[in-house]
Amino acid sequence: MIKLENIGKIYYGKKVETHALSGVNLEIERGESVAVTGTSGSGKTTLLNILGAMVHPTSGAYFYNGTDVTKLGKKKFHQFRKEHISFVFQHFELMDNYSVYENVEMPLLARGIKKRKEKVEKYLELTGISGLAGKKPNCLSGGEKQRCAIARALVADTDLILADEPTGALDSRTTDSILKVFEEIHSMGRTVVLITHDQNVASRCGRILHIEDGKLVE
Ligand code: ADP
Ligand code: MG
Repeated sequence: MIKLENIGKIYYGKKVETHALSGVNLEIERGESVAVTGTSGSGKTTLLNILGAMVHPTSGAYFYNGTDVTKLGKKKFHQFRKEHISFVFQHFELMDNYSVYENVEMPLLARGIKKRKEKVEKYLELTGISGLAGKKPNCLSGGEKQRCAIARALVADTDLILADEPTGALDSRTTDSILKVFEEIHSMGRTVVLITHDQNVASRCGRILHIEDGKLVE
């Protein structure tokens, strides 16, 4: 499904250039669950953002189902993201003025999908937050916010789910229940790539990638 060829990413600052990734080659097959590990600053988020078409690589090619995504124009690049990718952001990025239900419904509205209720309810249920549907995100616990962010990422039925430290702020019991949700998604045949610092979390994925100084050491 995914093939990265010799991917590099340089962030150009005023005085310094940061070589966040270099020479990254990677293939991910449909239905895999992959953990990305590495120390802080090693390039994990940059890799995830490139996979999620949030960031353009400086060099190299990114093939998704055979199409080189890096060659798409702006409009098609956005279209590609909307069609194929869902993100669980590290800091959730929920909208506090909207209810949990409305947050989860948002990706369906953005895609112009008319039949929404059934889907929203399905993923609220799967993530165990049906009872919180009417609440605002700012009165939820960390684990509940995380569930809401995951439900929102799942609702649009994209093939690829990307999650940046989805258990980073959670205690071990909540971590376990979040991982069960990911295992459930994975068993539905969807492809999951998640970043984690936690070896226990990584070991529950099908494959572990390790990044050191912007280089992939599998
Ligand atoms: P990780 O997620 O493993 O902590 P990142 O991918 O966030 O690593 O960052 C890799 C390197 O790139 C770090 O040195 C970081 O400071 C730098 N970096 C990340 N994002 C940016 C950015 N938008 N602008 C400049 N430098 C960045
Ligand atoms: Mg990061």
